[in-house]
Amino acid sequence: MNILVTGGAGFIGSHIATYHLEKGDNVFVVDNLSTGSIKNIEPLLDNPAFTFHEADILVWDQLKSVISRMDRIYHMAAIVGVKKVLKDPQAVMAINIAATERVFRAVAEVRPQAQVTIASSSEVYGFNTNEGFSETDDIVLRSGARLRWAYAVTKLADEFLAYSFMYQSGIKVVIARFFNTVGPRQVGTYGMVVPTFIHQAVNNLPVTVYGDGLQTRSFCDVRDTVVALDLLNSTPAANGEIVNVGNNEEISILDLARLIVKRAGSSSPITFLSYKEAYGMEMDDQTHRRPILDKLQSLTGFKTKWSLYQTIDDLIALERKRNRP
Ligand code: UDP
Repeated sequence: MNILVTGGAGFIGSHIATYHLEKGDNVFVVDNLSTGSIKNIEPLLDNPAFTFHEADILVWDQLKSVISRMDRIYHMAAIVGVKKVLKDPQAVMAINIAATERVFRAVAEVRPQAQVTIASSSEVYGFNTNEGFSETDDIVLRSGARLRWAYAVTKLADEFLAYSFMYQSGIKVVIARFFNTVGPRQVGTYGMVVPTFIHQAVNNLPVTVYGDGLQTRSFCDVRDTVVALDLLNSTPAANGEIVNVGNNEEISILDLARLIVKRAGSSSPITFLSYKEAYGMEMDDQTHRRPILDKLQSLTGFKTKWSLYQTIDDLIALERKRNRP
């Protein structure tokens, strides 16, 4: 099978690329290396079944000719991370929506039979206060100029672009709503809590909990995520569906900090920062975020293999390795 991964040098994209090469597929990656990194795909570069194009998806002149040869497209190119969103909301709005539109237009024109996956996000559930989110739950976004929701708005726009191309052009699409994804190669630069805490704990630095730490998240190892995505793409009944992708084990951010400090055998203190201190402005944070996975499980039978403990131990070991001269 020929597979294109846009944003394939990024955290999730590079794991998708690795997974499909191991399965024996031909993998094409396009990435402009804005937040992705060549280091993420370095081990793949010598593989004859792997092709890397360093290009901006918005202007890449080979987009159509590459897509015309693809069986499957994972569209992962996007700007993510709360801090990045707050720093450059213009880019988030423009790039996240325009890139998706350009990919769909190309698919509709030159390869309408390709199977497309787009990366949506649990952020689209917004301020919905349910304990867990299922795909038909209401979307609750704050009105008023709250830039913090810019990312969610772009992901909703991507979902609706997907619908419009399914409806008008018959494109096959799976809309994956990712819940917090973690694992090797994720960086803490733009907020991401797990790599941030791992780095702090391994280096005995203060572990920075934002707010009261009672907000919860459910973390899914990226090595599970890629399996779920492949299963969804291989399941005809998933075509045209929105599906939560994640792990439903839930933990508060304060407990996460304690757990990481403990597993790392660290002497780090846990410190609390207000959202204003952390982000430079007041922030609406989601208080709970747990996926209801019934749809994913009934469509594919998918079960996660990685527990949060295993992922954390793995990430601690990798962080220590990085620290060694
Ligand atoms: N967070 C934290 N300390 C950090 C980074 C993040 O307490 O150093 C919190 C953040 O406020 C949020 C949760 O951890 O409540 C998850 O943040 P992340 O940016 O990883 O992802 P989000 O779920 O917000 O998209």
